[in-house]
Amino acid sequence: MNRSLRSILPIFICAVILLSCATTGPGGKKSFIFISNAQEVSIGRELDQQVRSTEKILDDLQWQAYITELGDRIVAVSDRKDIQYHFTVVESDQINAFAAPGGYVFVYTGLIKKMDNESELVSVMAHEISHIVARHGVKRLQSVLGLSLVLKLALGDKSDQTQQVAGAALGIMMSGYSRSNEHEADEFGLIYMTQAGWHPDGMIGMFEKLHAMEGDHQASMFEMLASSHPQTSDRIESTHQRVINLRIKTAGLSKDSNRFQQLLGRLR
Ligand SMILES: [Zn+2]
Repeated sequence: MNRSLRSILPIFICAVILLSCATTGPGGKKSFIFISNAQEVSIGRELDQQVRSTEKILDDLQWQAYITELGDRIVAVSDRKDIQYHFTVVESDQINAFAAPGGYVFVYTGLIKKMDNESELVSVMAHEISHIVARHGVKRLQSVLGLSLVLKLALGDKSDQTQQVAGAALGIMMSGYSRSNEHEADEFGLIYMTQAGWHPDGMIGMFEKLHAMEGDHQASMFEMLASSHPQTSDRIESTHQRVINLRIKTAGLSKDSNRFQQLLGRLR
């Protein structure tokens, strides 16, 4: 190594670390993220195409516009606004919702029809947006692949081995979140939905509905991964605790809207 390279290298390494230190949650929470937004978005776009080719997208412009407005309001108070988000209602009786990396959120009509008010639906969306903010899919990819391979990907390595891994990325990212990821998405989601103006009772009500459906096979479709989710009873208790510990002020927060009830009527 020549002298000039030796003097530049530490600066280069520091720059890489600084550049890859992304905000991944409320209160300035940071994580090392080596996969660029562009790479994450391109993986998300691929998944979006898969969903669109296998699922029926709800043919109702009012619903698609409404879900986008709700999503945009949550994103506006979130800790990640450096990507474009896409919110889509899927017409299916599955009680399901999930987020793909890169800003893609899908909510199924089967789940929407189980919700009694707007804040319950919002709590599901805030949870899904939180997975994207916290880069849970990307972090899983990084931990499965290891740093050296992720760095090769990040630096645009086009070798066969690296490209094979890129091809498997989608499966790895969507193969499930850990229980701690779920708790984190619940916590961030509660913060975001209340900051955006909705009442935390929406999250509690939503979990109570999931809890009531436990044992029912359909309920296990939520995010397609309910088996890895924490016990619903724990999530209800944790939400009550967070409202107290985070000193969330509930005065003036909204639980429902006429628009939600009117649009719900169109589905039922
Ligand atoms: Zn989740």
